Amino acid sequence: MTCYPTTVPVPATPPIGLGEASVGLERAIAHDELRLLYQPIVRIADRAVVAVEALVRWEHPTAGLLTPDRFLEAGHTAGHMPLLDRWVLYRACRDVAELADSLGDAAPEHLNVNLSAPTLATDFTEPVTTALRRTGLPPHRLRLELSEGADLTTLTHAAPRLQGLIERGVGVALDDMGTGSTDLRYLSRLALHGIKIDKEFVAGMLTNPRDHAIVAMLTDLAHSLRLHVTAEGVETTEQLAALARMGVSYAQGFHFAPPLTLADLSGTLLASA
Ligand code: C2E
Ligand code: MG
Ligand code: MG
Repeated sequence: MTCYPTTVPVPATPPIGLGEASVGLERAIAHDELRLLYQPIVRIADRAVVAVEALVRWEHPTAGLLTPDRFLEAGHTAGHMPLLDRWVLYRACRDVAELADSLGDAAPEHLNVNLSAPTLATDFTEPVTTALRRTGLPPHRLRLELSEGADLTTLTHAAPRLQGLIERGVGVALDDMGTGSTDLRYLSRLALHGIKIDKEFVAGMLTNPRDHAIVAMLTDLAHSLRLHVTAEGVETTEQLAALARMGVSYAQGFHFAPPLTLADLSGTLLASA
């Protein structure tokens, strides 16, 4: 598929004011100001796009298109994350169901949606099953990404609901692996689908032997638990080659594609079909 420049855009602007974002996020949903981008997840062996991750943006009326670092923290503080996650779940399932209708086999098999820690503390079974039912997306096409940064109590509390969704066919992956302090027993207790190795380790793995060792250790651990391994933040051919040598099967990052609008994703998929 198309390769994109590997330069990482560094946001020059600070988070918008807490008050503005916290009041605004609820209003943003009501005024339809949130947007979703989709970043391809590629199978390293044949470069096929097997999944896309939905990533939220806020098209702010005055500040322009905002990335999550500028409003999610305020959303957490204001208690708006369950609302945001519900919106993303429905909209992303709807987009990918439509993509599957229009592109058929050229559509990615899986859709990854991030669930925040506050949402994990709620009855999230309902928004997940409602989104699937209303959009017609088959449960096995949906994968929930849980940040490893979520604390163990939250993850433990969420485990029965996650297990219920897994039994319906939904996949569950641990995101940002290596950044949190997840009790390793959690990895074996829940029938997880996979892990995503945090991009900080991928960024450092060619120059810092410790980062390299962590990526290798997480990959071996995941494989011995029969979990799929996806490396995030892959920006260069050299990183990709090193990950392939370690046995990592899936990759996501600017080396393949940045987060894309639905229209650009559709065009990219059609061009490489
Ligand atoms: P994440 O789930 O780990 O998502 C991956 C992040 O890495 C995305 O940042 C993506 O744009 C960025 N990324 C992708 N490829 C590369 C690369 O090659 N190099 C680098 N340096 N970065 C890359 P983004 O979109 O800014 O999202 C940041 C975080 O915000 C996400 O991390 C996730 O934790 C959260 N987030 C984003 N969208 C949602 C959402 O819809 N719901 C929830 N609950 N959280 C979200
Ligand atoms: Mg994620
Ligand atoms: Mg991540």
